[in-house]
Parts: sequence; structure tokens; C-alpha cells
Amino acid sequence: MYPETQTTHFSIDHSALEACIEALYTAKWPDGFRCPDCGHRHAYEIRTRKLPLFQCRLCHHQASLIAGTIMEGSRTDLRKWFHAMHLVASASPGINALQLSKIISVTYKTAWLILHKIRHAIAANNKAPISGHVQLNSAFYGKPWCSILNPHPKRQALLVGASVNDQGEIQEVRIMHMPERHLTGTTIRSTGITAFTMLHVDQANSRIESNILHFNRKRFRPLLAAALEASRWLNQTFHGIGPKHLQRYLEEFVYHYNGVIAQTPVLPHLTRLCATSPRTTYSAIIHGSPSATEPIYRQARVAS
Ligand SMILES: [Zn+2]
Repeated sequence: MYPETQTTHFSIDHSALEACIEALYTAKWPDGFRCPDCGHRHAYEIRTRKLPLFQCRLCHHQASLIAGTIMEGSRTDLRKWFHAMHLVASASPGINALQLSKIISVTYKTAWLILHKIRHAIAANNKAPISGHVQLNSAFYGKPWCSILNPHPKRQALLVGASVNDQGEIQEVRIMHMPERHLTGTTIRSTGITAFTMLHVDQANSRIESNILHFNRKRFRPLLAAALEASRWLNQTFHGIGPKHLQRYLEEFVYHYNGVIAQTPVLPHLTRLCATSPRTTYSAIIHGSPSATEPIYRQARVAS
């Protein structure tokens, strides 16, 4: 006979898995099942393994619950994925891979990969262009923050763009890490502005003001404050981020920042993003540049 605590523990875990399966199903198919092959709306549920399979009643295609999500191909338990999503959505000021690895009992590499896959889903969401009155301002990420006397040797140039209301308050923000090719010294070139606006701004429906000079008296202070907040968050939560993956972490910051302004309930929204964004791989994360930005950079170079 099992000790009572062990039985209770199993019961909680099992119901948690069922809750995760149900939450993922709802996030993946909010209007009910839809066959990824033929679009048919009815399926048989096959329950012979840990996660259910859904077999289309028309074409007999078998769809796993995690196919077509960031979890596809992962051997990590669904409960751990949901715990990670919950922590990304709610932890303040955020969670790093070392902390996550201890909390959900996975290796550091697995935790790092889970967080990057979640950022991959977030980055896709951040591609929606901003519009209206749009302001752009240059900024820096590095330690210490934007110091004239003692700039950090590895500080990185950022371009912050935001749609603002009549009071100049930020409605929605985007932040782009500016690569060397868009810089002259530390100043952002016009190609950088072009790359940003092509990627992030609905130019037909926007009035754009830009300020890329670092010491201009007319700097847009709310935008600089957002960049400062991003810088502090990166340094506090992750103890500093190098240039290679900086854009991905900025995407996570921007997602949270805009979520607070829009008062979006983060966890259900994030679950939906993770359930509808296709997988990425460790190799793609390590070797690729952020997929959300690179094709547009290439277009911008041709245009300039
Ligand atoms: Zn089908």
C-alpha cells in the first residue's frame, strides 16, 4: 500500500497533466479541433500514450497535441513547459535559465532552450507594426547605463520606437538592437531607421518623428526611459546579455512592457502564442540571427 502522501502527490500530478492538456488544446484549437491537413472539424481522440493523439475522421491524419507548437520535438514533460510559461508570464523581474533549471528540475541547457523557444514565440507576436504618431529615438544597452564619462566598451546601440498618444505617453513600443552595419561610430545611420520602419511601422498610417542624436535636447524621454528599464531588466535578471542574443531578450522585455500598458492577461496570451508558433531548434537559435529581423535587414540594405 502506498503511503498517503505519495498517493496524494500522484493525484495532484495527474490532474495537473490533464489541466495542461486541456489548456494546450484550448490554446491550440480555440474553436475546436481543426485537421492540419484537410481542415476537417472532427477527430477521434487516441489515448494510448501520455499525450493524446487526434485522428481526423475524414482524412485519418494523426495530429499530436504538441505538433505545430514550440513544444514539438521536446521530451520535456508538458507540466514543466507550463510551469516555465507561468514563470515567464508572472515572475518579476523575470526568470533566467539557471533559476528555471532549479525550479522545474531540468538541466541548464534544457531550461535555456525552453526560455529561448518561448522568446521565439514572443518575437513572432512582436512583428505586428505600430502606427499613428510614432517616435524613434536612439539609446544604448550596456553597463553603466549611457555614461558619457565611462561608457561600457561593449555597449550596444538600440533604436527604440513607440506609438505615442497626444500626451507623448507610450502606447506600444518596439526595440531593435542595431548591428554594426547600421552604425557610424555609435550613431545610427539612415539605413538603421529604414530597417526599423520597414519591420515595425505601418508607414502608410503613421507620422514618424525620429531622433538619433545622442545629446539632442529634444530627445523623447519616455522612449529613453523604456530603454533604461530594458537595460536594468537585462542586467538584473540575466546579469547582462551579449550582442549575439540581445534581440531575443529585448523581444521578451517589449512583450511584457506592452502587456502592462494594454493590461493583457499575460499567461493565457503567452500560452496561445506558444501553442500556435512553430518549433525552432537549438541549432537555429545558436547559429541563426533572430528570424524576425534578418529578412527585413536584407531588404533594407538593397533599398539603401
Ligand atoms: Zn483531415
